[in-house]
Amino acid sequence: MLNTLATPRACPILSLFNEYLADARHQKLNLGVGVYQDETGLTPIMAAVKAAEARLLGNQTTKVYEGIFGNETFNQAIQTMMLGGLNADGRASTLQTPGGTGALNLMAYLIASARPNATIWLSDPSYVNHRPVFEMAGLTVKTYRYLDWESQCVDEDAVIDLASQLGAGDVFLLHGCAHNPSGADLSLAAWQALAELAPERGFLPLIDIAYHGLGDGLEPDIHGARLLVDAVEEALMSVSCSKNFGLYRERTGAAIVIAESERQAKRYREAMCEMARSAYSMPPAHGAAIVAEILGDGGLTSQWKSELLTMSNRLISLRHELAAALKEQTQTSRFDFLIRHKGMFSIMGLSEEAINTIKTQYGIYLLPSGRINIAGLTSHDIPRLVEAIIASGG
Ligand code: PMP
Repeated sequence: MLNTLATPRACPILSLFNEYLADARHQKLNLGVGVYQDETGLTPIMAAVKAAEARLLGNQTTKVYEGIFGNETFNQAIQTMMLGGLNADGRASTLQTPGGTGALNLMAYLIASARPNATIWLSDPSYVNHRPVFEMAGLTVKTYRYLDWESQCVDEDAVIDLASQLGAGDVFLLHGCAHNPSGADLSLAAWQALAELAPERGFLPLIDIAYHGLGDGLEPDIHGARLLVDAVEEALMSVSCSKNFGLYRERTGAAIVIAESERQAKRYREAMCEMARSAYSMPPAHGAAIVAEILGDGGLTSQWKSELLTMSNRLISLRHELAAALKEQTQTSRFDFLIRHKGMFSIMGLSEEAINTIKTQYGIYLLPSGRINIAGLTSHDIPRLVEAIIASGG
C-alpha cells in the first residue's frame, strides 16, 4: 500500500551534518549547525534553566495532562514578554505549542481553514522549514526579494514595495529579528513603514520570532514586531524558546494571535486547539514549566537575562573579530556586513565553488547558501576560516 510513496527529499542541513561526522580530519569545523555554542564548543544548559528544573523536580506532584491550551502561566508570561503593554485591551490570545515549528504549523492550518486561497509570502532567503510548513497546509507560497546578495543588506525598498502591493488575501511572513539565514534585519524605519502600510493594504502580518535576546537585546529585538502588531487589527506571532532559553529538545514555543476583539482572539485560539487536538493533542509540559518558573521569579528572570546577554555579547565580539580579520587580510570592507548583521547567522556571500573548496580543503562546513553559524566559531578558529575564505577565491 505505501510503496507508491515518492522518495522523501533529503534535508540539506542533515546531509551536511552527516558529511561532517564522516570527515576524519581533526581540525574540521561545523559552522552549519543551527544551535548556540559557547567558547568550548558546547551548548550548555543555562543556569537559570537548571535552577528552575531543580525547583520543578522538588515541587511537581503529578504528570496528568496539562490541558489543551498548555501551561496558561507560560502563555501569559510569553504574551507579556512579546507584547508588553500592547495587549491592554485583551485583543491577544496565546497557545503553548511544541516549539516555534508547532506554532507555525497551527497558524498555517488556521490560515488555510479561514482562507484556503491565501498566499503566504516568504523572504528570499528564509528559514528552510517555512516553505514545507505552509505548503503542507495547502497554501500558495511565494517569495519576495529580501536580501541584496551583493551587499548582504536587506533590500528594504523591495520589501516595502511588496507590502504596498499586498492585499486582504495575503499573509506577509517577517522574521522578528536576527533573520535566519541571512543575519540581515529590517531597520526600525522599515518596520514603521510596514506598520503604516499594513492597515491600509489589509494583509495579515505573521511574525516568526526565534532569536529575541540574541541580537541587540531582548526589548530592542522585539521592538519592530511590536510596531507592526500595534498598527493592525489582526496579526499572528510564532514564538520559539529553543534558542534564547536553550530549550531545543524540550519543544517549547507559543502561537500568539491578535484579533479585532477579545472574543475573536479566543475563537482563533480555539480553532488552533482543535487542530492541535487531532495532530498531537497536548503540548509537552516540561519546557513551558521551566520558562514559566523563570519568568515568574524575579531572581531567575535576572539570571536568565544576564546569561542571554553573555550569549549575545559573545556573538557580537566574534562578529567584530571576524570582520576585522577579513578586513585586514583582504584590505577591503567587503565583509563589514558581519558587524551590521544580528544574531547567530550570516550569509557570507561566497560562490558555490568557494563553499565547496572551504569544505574539501579546510574541513570547514558552511551551508550551501553560504550561511555560517557565528556561535560555531571561537577566536582560535578565525585565522583558519579567514585563510580558507581567501584561498577559495571567495
Ligand atoms: N523560526 C525560525 C526563523 C527558526 O530559525 C527556527 C529554528 N530555530 C524556528 C522557527 C523553529 O524553532 P523550534 O526549534 O522552536 O521549532
